[in-house]
Amino acid sequence: MTLTRPVPVPDEQSAPYWEATARHELRIARCSQCGSFAVPPDQVCPRCGTTVPAFSFEPVSGRGRVRSWTVMRQSFLPGFEEDVPFVLVDVELVEQAELRIIGKLLDGPEAVVRVGDPVTVAFEDLVPGVSIPAFEIAAGS
Ligand SMILES: [Zn+2]
Repeated sequence: MTLTRPVPVPDEQSAPYWEATARHELRIARCSQCGSFAVPPDQVCPRCGTTVPAFSFEPVSGRGRVRSWTVMRQSFLPGFEEDVPFVLVDVELVEQAELRIIGKLLDGPEAVVRVGDPVTVAFEDLVPGVSIPAFEIAAGS
């Protein structure tokens, strides 16, 4: 197998996130001051404005609802040519309003997806030790 897709390169800020996804675990940065989650974590908490958020990465359920979606038919990044077409979903996690993650829907390009559909996180293994979050339509939806 040759991998042509770009692989995320963790920096100091995002390293705990990628370490968790490698274990197929979704952890989101949470502000130590106000307890709100932030994606991506920044120098300033978007909720309370503290400049010392001291984010810790806490596990979340991985459950959410589709806010919007699109079918990607063209590859805008080198390395994704073999993946198109695929459905990209914008998901609001159940933990917090406006806590959104965008990911590939693993149900295939023909999947019937509607705004509001429940989804659960799943993980795509890119190379050993590197996995990225994606989503699957939740059973029984
Ligand atoms: Zn905060």
